[in-house]
Amino acid sequence: MKSIGDNCGVFGIVKETACVQDIYRGLDFLQHRGQQFCGIATYDGKRIYLITHYGQVGNTFNPHELDTFKGNIGIGHVSLKERQPMMWQGAVGEIAVAFSGNIINNEALLKEMKDRGEAFYHGLDIEIISKLIMQEKNVVSGISMLAESIKGSYSLVVLTQDGIYASRDVYGFRPLILGEGSGTFIVSSESRAFQSLGLNRIRDVGPGEIVFITHKGFETKKQLKSPRRAHCAFEWAYTASMDSKIDGLYVQEARNNLGKSLAERDIEEGGLHADLVSPVPMSGIGHALGYHMVSGLPYQEVFLYNRYADRSYTQLTQEDRDRMAKKKLSVLEYAVKDKKIVLCDDSIVRGTQIKNKVRDLKNAGANEVHVRIACPPLMYPCDLGISTRTYGELLAREYIPEGNITTLDELKDLEIWVSEKIGADSVRYNSLEAFVEALKIPKEDLCIKCWDGNLPIAL
Ligand code: SF4
Repeated sequence: MKSIGDNCGVFGIVKETACVQDIYRGLDFLQHRGQQFCGIATYDGKRIYLITHYGQVGNTFNPHELDTFKGNIGIGHVSLKERQPMMWQGAVGEIAVAFSGNIINNEALLKEMKDRGEAFYHGLDIEIISKLIMQEKNVVSGISMLAESIKGSYSLVVLTQDGIYASRDVYGFRPLILGEGSGTFIVSSESRAFQSLGLNRIRDVGPGEIVFITHKGFETKKQLKSPRRAHCAFEWAYTASMDSKIDGLYVQEARNNLGKSLAERDIEEGGLHADLVSPVPMSGIGHALGYHMVSGLPYQEVFLYNRYADRSYTQLTQEDRDRMAKKKLSVLEYAVKDKKIVLCDDSIVRGTQIKNKVRDLKNAGANEVHVRIACPPLMYPCDLGISTRTYGELLAREYIPEGNITTLDELKDLEIWVSEKIGADSVRYNSLEAFVEALKIPKEDLCIKCWDGNLPIAL
């Protein structure tokens, strides 16, 4: 795992029969969005059942425990930073709340609320969000108040005694998608779970939309004013799974386009004489396929992914995570020996992992390794809960401390420096212009703060 950290994923379902197995499976399909904590809450007409765990869904919930959940409606959560859902009693009744995102003004809100006499367990974002919702007499007014109070990103599910409320912040930073089939209605951070549950993707929840989900289906309860869209561009390049579709764009299509763009640049610059193109699994796969489509180079795996390493328990330290990353991938020597390889990945943060991959390939006999990176050089941390990286972790900042790449020549200078740092024969990134063009979403509808430093929210 890179030090880019996916933050969390939410899931909710309303069906005619017991729903806990569907939530369990749905969360398993969102596990890539957060591996530290997981939780499920269901409602059976009398009470809410809630269990959260430290660790991954498949490792922590056992069949006996799942049997204790009752009810046909429920929500679930996977996370890197806090246990959710959380359950509350208030004027709105008994509710359970889970969200994906980050509150930038959490300290100010916490102080303001404490000054008003509110008490908190730990002062977590989920507590702030829940309490803001419960200040009002109904959940729709509560979510409206929440949208006015917080600066940040959220995709939210609220389990109530009447149904599930699903809402997305007014910029639509984080994805939230609706699906249905055979009397079952579902909401999820990603659409990939729908297929496995035999459901169809219906549409994305719009920025600022509050949707109520019951046995009758989806009902938009309120549309909050959205100043602009700002979908996280990183979702398509790295965070989301390749079998998902977000805000109308298939993740695979986006990754193929980014890889194609890298190949087009190589062709424009005279062509790259290599034997094969390969991904760093898993996030480099779509990019490498796109590169292959345009360059005509054979697509060949050079790393074998150990699918059983995936089920290991959450790794606590970066050292443990690096060790786990090594355990997950082994080099296919037969494919590598005496070859000139184009190696595609989504992004470079510190550069440690791509450096290790280049070293592993060269140790296995590769003649040349040319690294191609789908994202432009990462220059800024994320304030919106999608990534945990800091300025000090960003390799490109060492070379360009002021953080601005304004010309292709500056990008080329950086690429030469990075290739020396990681021991590659060459490095190419997509420029920011090429990156946005490949996504085929208007620049003004995206958050690209990772690269240009402009946070779409007024603070
Ligand atoms: S700062 Fe980067 S990771 Fe964060 S929302 Fe914007 S594009 Fe996504």
